[in-house]
Amino acid sequence: MKFTRRDFLKTSTAAALASGVGLTAQAQAQAAENSTVKRWYKGNMHMHSQWSDGEPLPEYAVDWYKSRGYDFICPSDHNIFQANDLRFTSNGTKPTMTAEMKAAFKDETSLWKPMQCDKISNKLTQKFVDQARERFGADSVRIKEAGGLTFVRMKSFDELVEQFAEDGKFLLIPGFEQTGSCPDKRSVHMNFIGVRKTFKYIKKDDPVDTIRETLAAGRELYADSPFLFTANHPLWKFYDISPTALIANPDVRFFELCNNGIHRDYVGRDDAWEPEHFWDAVNAFRALADVPLLFGMGSDDRHGYPDGPATKGWTVARAARLDWPSLLEAFNAGDFYSSNGLDFADINFDGKTLSVKIDAKDDADYRIEFKGTKKNFDKTRKTIAVAAEDKKSPERLIETFSPEVGAVLETVEGTEGSYTLKADDLYVRAKIVKLPRAESQEWRTGPAAWTQPYRG
Ligand SMILES: [Zn+2]
Ligand SMILES: [Zn+2]
Repeated sequence: MKFTRRDFLKTSTAAALASGVGLTAQAQAQAAENSTVKRWYKGNMHMHSQWSDGEPLPEYAVDWYKSRGYDFICPSDHNIFQANDLRFTSNGTKPTMTAEMKAAFKDETSLWKPMQCDKISNKLTQKFVDQARERFGADSVRIKEAGGLTFVRMKSFDELVEQFAEDGKFLLIPGFEQTGSCPDKRSVHMNFIGVRKTFKYIKKDDPVDTIRETLAAGRELYADSPFLFTANHPLWKFYDISPTALIANPDVRFFELCNNGIHRDYVGRDDAWEPEHFWDAVNAFRALADVPLLFGMGSDDRHGYPDGPATKGWTVARAARLDWPSLLEAFNAGDFYSSNGLDFADINFDGKTLSVKIDAKDDADYRIEFKGTKKNFDKTRKTIAVAAEDKKSPERLIETFSPEVGAVLETVEGTEGSYTLKADDLYVRAKIVKLPRAESQEWRTGPAAWTQPYRG
């Protein structure tokens, strides 16, 4: 295994602490400072299991990330939290339960999901039961027959914590994905991360209102527990969420910059917002209005769990400890990056200069692009009509933004670089890529990583 910069940080901190006895005052002060040295933690906070429409049983899904070196995850199933109370209904699975059938589950807990009882739960097949039993033993999965149906028990969040969480090594964060759509079929999905209660989807005519009211409802319901709220895969189907919706909702601090749940034809469209352009459009107007900038999350929204390495998107946060308060602090401070293959060794912003170092894992050529928007950018927003694709994707009126939004301010060939904000810059962010890359290559095909935007 290659010794990475992240490993070095871990080791150097531990060594400083271990050798703290008998040092000079200065060295002791240094050791004390090192004890709060932050390190990078890799995570994914958007994933699905059989609790909703993911393929594997929940324990297989959690193990999938843990065994691939992730430090934290949030199993974010659609409109459901993996609570202990007895249920038979999850996403799209609604078996008719007679009194006799219910009696068979007296004293049971958690979700019992019938195999192949409707279109959605066709996904719950013997294959996934066998897959979990093969990995965790024949007794690991419980099954009951009732009313001619075969029910499989899903492990609750607390049971998953018991089975997989390890202090300082692997953290499970509770949460769920609030999933629904507007009457015109625009899908508005949002993750609540750090919470255990769900609430009914708030359906509005426009995503602007759906997002605003959902966040407001969450703030009321979770008043006592700090949480993260993310606007998910804004480009999933057909112009689901426009930059305008997030410009109008500056309380939304996080969106999914990198989520592969984007319709396969989307990026090829002439009129499409590329995910980065979407991000910069929001931040250019937010910076002008002097409201908090939008941070970009990386996640894989995983439903299928193949063998082999993890690809797609993830998020790496810099925290003093692997616990929810520390991670939350990092996210709220924007001290994290999104990736689909590359890593930063360091990101530093001193109020004026953004400096980054790439954690180069091979001898490839790397490039750092500093991107941003100038104060005098062309603010024209043009409304264009985009033709209907099919019944599920009717005509849309969308706003497009100038190419001056999110321009490349400076390019550095190499693994270290910095950019000092100029008087006319609204903000700056860095994107790192590995060369060579084709001109056509974009975020979904080329390994990259993205810092958050920084303002002076
Ligand atoms: Zn979704
Ligand atoms: Zn999802």
